[in-house]
Amino acid sequence: MVKLVFLGPPGAGKGTQAVRMAEIYQLPHISTGDILRNNVAEQTPLGIQAKLYMNRGDLVPDKLILGMVDHRLKQPDTENGWILDGFPRNVNQAYFVEKLLLKSKNEKPNVSNSFFVINIEVPGEILVSRLLSRGRKDDNEETIKNRLEVYHQQTKPLVDFYTERQQLISIDGNQSIDAVTNSLKQAVSLSC
Ligand code: AMP
Repeated sequence: MVKLVFLGPPGAGKGTQAVRMAEIYQLPHISTGDILRNNVAEQTPLGIQAKLYMNRGDLVPDKLILGMVDHRLKQPDTENGWILDGFPRNVNQAYFVEKLLLKSKNEKPNVSNSFFVINIEVPGEILVSRLLSRGRKDDNEETIKNRLEVYHQQTKPLVDFYTERQQLISIDGNQSIDAVTNSLKQAVSLSC
């Protein structure tokens, strides 16, 4: 059982690498950003509320996100593990994941539960130019600035959170996409 979380600032290449690792390990790729964007496109009650926050580059409140993630992680395709991309994004969400892992350990004490958090590191100035070239709706200069600020204030503390728990794997994201994937494969296979 492999469970991976992709951490890292917006533009670090989390999504690209998470998709690749999902293929390699045959696990579902669960991107909270993608689930939210689908909800926005379908104008669900969740999507209508989330849109306001997403357009500003703010985090969608936990009271909307936690139920959504809980529901997704109860789907049968998550039985052998999962790859979370964009979640957790604050300390409260990290405690939520911790509780979930504990529950699964108690329910399946005989199954090895490998859990790692991948931190993809990329210098700040490279992030901005990558995000501007991506052309997503929430990728304008002002929103990007806010998303990076939100990352530093709310998500970056998770680097310490997971370092303390010895669950953090740091990867240099300032290399070619293939080179990052290779570093990742190596690091994860060594850790599991
Ligand atoms: P992403 O595709 O991961 O960059 O997410 C796009 C946007 O969705 C973010 O800027 C947030 O507004 C929202 N979002 C995604 N994941 C989360 C999360 N775990 N908690 C709160 N908001 C989120």
